[in-house]
Amino acid sequence: MLFLELGKEQVEIKPTKIVCLGRNYAAHAKEMKSEIPTKPVIFLKPPSALIGPNEFIILPKESKNVHHEVELAVLISKKAKNVKIEDAMNYVLGYTILLDITARDLQDEAKRKGLPWTVSKGYDTFAPIGPKIVARGEIDPNNLDIGLKVNGEIRQKGNTSQMIFKIPEIISYISSIMTLEQGDIIATGTPSGVERIESSDEIEAWIEGIGVLRESVRRENL
Ligand code: MG
Repeated sequence: MLFLELGKEQVEIKPTKIVCLGRNYAAHAKEMKSEIPTKPVIFLKPPSALIGPNEFIILPKESKNVHHEVELAVLISKKAKNVKIEDAMNYVLGYTILLDITARDLQDEAKRKGLPWTVSKGYDTFAPIGPKIVARGEIDPNNLDIGLKVNGEIRQKGNTSQMIFKIPEIISYISSIMTLEQGDIIATGTPSGVERIESSDEIEAWIEGIGVLRESVRRENL
């Protein structure tokens, strides 16, 4: 079981789904040589990929090129279906950090073949989350510095103001397709600077006002 602190409470992290945005920062879309989207690009990560802070991201043997992607995550407070943009923030419990770990070589192959991203995004440990939840209203999610270091060296640095689609629009769009349940997680996309992680790397991901999420990396035992 995975719990994160929200003020004095412990909240169990038990989503029915993790909905992720792709290409939600123009600079990252550009580094991926992808077009800037005119409506949100979404995909799912399985809840089985979640790990808490200070755990291990396991590099699967099928991939030679696993990347980090630091993202602002939104936790949903109650069931949401066909939510209007102007009501969408009423469905937000709070915010945390999620790493959308990606087997880039497997994703590139899937893109070439026109296949889904599920394999490249779905391995166990590919969704580290934490270190805590900050309640809606305590921070402005539209203007937070966001970044990631590997072994003390800065790899990603941006600000959530650079997001193409903002949180209310994202919630409204997703809820027009699938019902969001209490506890569901939305990962809002990554700024530029995604790069390979290697066994024994130490990752520190931060978002202003939320804190630092630390994880270690190791290769799957063969
Ligand atoms: Mg991502």
